[in-house]
Amino acid sequence: MIFISHGHFDHILDVPEIAASTKARVYCGRGTDGTMIRKGLDKDLIHRVVSDGEIFNFGDFQAQAFYSRHVKFDSWLLFKTLARINFRIPGYLPLLREYPEGQVLSWRFLIEGKAVHHFGSGGSTVDELENLGRQPTDILLVPMQGHTRIDRIAHQYVKALQPEMVIPHHQDNFYPPISTMVDTRKFTELVKGTNPDTAIRIPVLNETMEW
Ligand SMILES: [Zn+2]
Repeated sequence: MIFISHGHFDHILDVPEIAASTKARVYCGRGTDGTMIRKGLDKDLIHRVVSDGEIFNFGDFQAQAFYSRHVKFDSWLLFKTLARINFRIPGYLPLLREYPEGQVLSWRFLIEGKAVHHFGSGGSTVDELENLGRQPTDILLVPMQGHTRIDRIAHQYVKALQPEMVIPHHQDNFYPPISTMVDTRKFTELVKGTNPDTAIRIPVLNETMEW
């Protein structure tokens, strides 16, 4: 199974190819199904989420989809990104145009009695986080891209969901020159200040993480 946050290229570019070779079913929000079909994904492998809070049971684990929002890119981040891409901008425009955002989802997995909540973008409203914070979260995955102050934004997720463990992700330099590496030290500092009992695990590229 593949669970999709939203339709931007850095989240789904290689999904049609992976699904074609593994026959994995792909769960995604409205709009992203069309993008992946256009990019060659077999439509029989797609399951589109049709309601907020929809639950999928797979026997040994459960996945629940929640409607979420994309972080709003701030002007300083856009300026720095455009300056970096510079004369190469026309070459990258199709990537941005052909992969619209679609309905953004966050995913809550119940596995071996633990609740794991994954966000693929950091645009959640206060209401959304308050709502999700009413049930316990053991492991929280927060994305570290899309805003100059993403460390503070990601910190709000930790304060709202109060997880036992937080894993900042997506700080990788996923597609240079569009991306750069994001420093997670400020986020770590903020979490230690308010949530000293929350464990912080930083993923390392190409290393398997065990929980
Ligand atoms: Zn995105």
